[in-house]
Amino acid sequence: MWQQADYGPFDETHNDKEKIKSGSAVPCRICELAFKRLRLTLRYCWDCERGFCEGEHGNFTKKNGEKGPQRARCVRCGPGPD
Ligand SMILES: [Zn+2]
Ligand SMILES: [Zn+2]
Repeated sequence: MWQQADYGPFDETHNDKEKIKSGSAVPCRICELAFKRLRLTLRYCWDCERGFCEGEHGNFTKKNGEKGPQRARCVRCGPGPD
């Protein structure tokens, strides 16, 4: 299912953003913390640089007219549902 995955805990010196950018899926840190379950993801939060599952535990924040890459935020950092 996932070609490459890093099941390790969140590492400040090699955070989920870096792991995902180098091609590894990481566990959603919210599933891990809140539900003690493992669900791999290739999405990371722009703010805390932790993996999260898109849709359920975070989303892209896109403002009208905003340029540049889309920023994704997990539910812990984001403002919550619109
Ligand atoms: Zn999750
Ligand atoms: Zn976050």
